[in-house]
Amino acid sequence: MINVTRTFLPPFEEYCREIRGLWDTRVVTNMGPRHEAFREALESFLGVPRVSLFSNGHLALEALLRAMELPAGGEVITTPFTFISTVNAIIRCGLVPVFADVLPSDGTMDADSARSLIGPRTVAILPVHVYGNLCDVDKLGALAAEHSLPIIYDAAHAFGVKYRGASALSFGDASIVSFHATKVFSTMEGGAVVPGKNSGILQALEDEKNFGIRGYEECVSPGGNAKMNELQAAMGICNLRHFPEVLERRRALYENYRRHLKGVGFLEPREAVEPNYSYMPVLVERRDKMYEKLMAAGIHARKYFYPLASDFAFCRDCPGAGSTPVARDLSSRVLCLPLYPELGEREQDKIIFCISENN
Ligand SMILES: *Cc1c(COP(=O)(O)O)cnc(C)c1O
Repeated sequence: MINVTRTFLPPFEEYCREIRGLWDTRVVTNMGPRHEAFREALESFLGVPRVSLFSNGHLALEALLRAMELPAGGEVITTPFTFISTVNAIIRCGLVPVFADVLPSDGTMDADSARSLIGPRTVAILPVHVYGNLCDVDKLGALAAEHSLPIIYDAAHAFGVKYRGASALSFGDASIVSFHATKVFSTMEGGAVVPGKNSGILQALEDEKNFGIRGYEECVSPGGNAKMNELQAAMGICNLRHFPEVLERRRALYENYRRHLKGVGFLEPREAVEPNYSYMPVLVERRDKMYEKLMAAGIHARKYFYPLASDFAFCRDCPGAGSTPVARDLSSRVLCLPLYPELGEREQDKIIFCISENN
């Protein structure tokens, strides 16, 4: 079976070298030396002043929402065309998701739709850089500023994406990114918050991930536990070295798909964006039939993102649910094709052939 993705791993010996010292020091977690080295390497790779590492992207998002101290019961404008983690984090933090529609060109939040949903209970805007397609950060940023609302980005898909030379993770009040095994850059499980213009939340993030403990005898808040351990950080250090070659291979495969796939629709990243080729979404008219045909041929494409988050029972009564026709249309036609560094040319040819046969 050709799956939609395959986790990239560094050479086994390289990883072993990176974790060898753990057997001497016995420091395996709690912001140890690998954690600090990885954090610094990330900061310089991304060109941002500070990164806060987490055990996974979801807990990074929950910690960020809590660190922002948004009023309980407040409404957070997001989109239903995302992985359910985005919406679950909002609800689990005692906030209410409000569903704005997306743009047909790239699946990111439609600023005009978001504008129409802003009301007295709105406390934040949470757009998603879906598939690594950068949101219209200029328009959304201006909208947030106009209404004095914080804007935080779910940039789980956007590691390595750049806009006018700057990291996609540097916009808004803060962004979260995921280093899950299925993402373009991975620490097996892992994630981070990258504070943008809101660096004042750094201490609160540290408290959220480590029980609110400061020093040996002080606890300042009922924080949770979401620390990245040394084995995860060591994987991050190795994979960061390999990221340029991973990106290059993904780009080649992506461009080959674009050259050879006929009769399907594509989503286009906006102007001045350097993409990370993290997904290969295509739009097909009889999507479910295509999905079955590919499955029968041993190709497991995925219907990301179907169903819409707003269609799940616990979201159906939230404001905006069911009123996002563009998101619904994309969700009914999208299929993410296999794309990962080790995908072979013959495997890719087979996928392209199978699509042209059944389109
Ligand atoms: C993967 C993902 C997350 C959650 O990240 P984890 O590291 O898996 O916890 C959040 N939002 C989106 C859009 C994602 O794709």
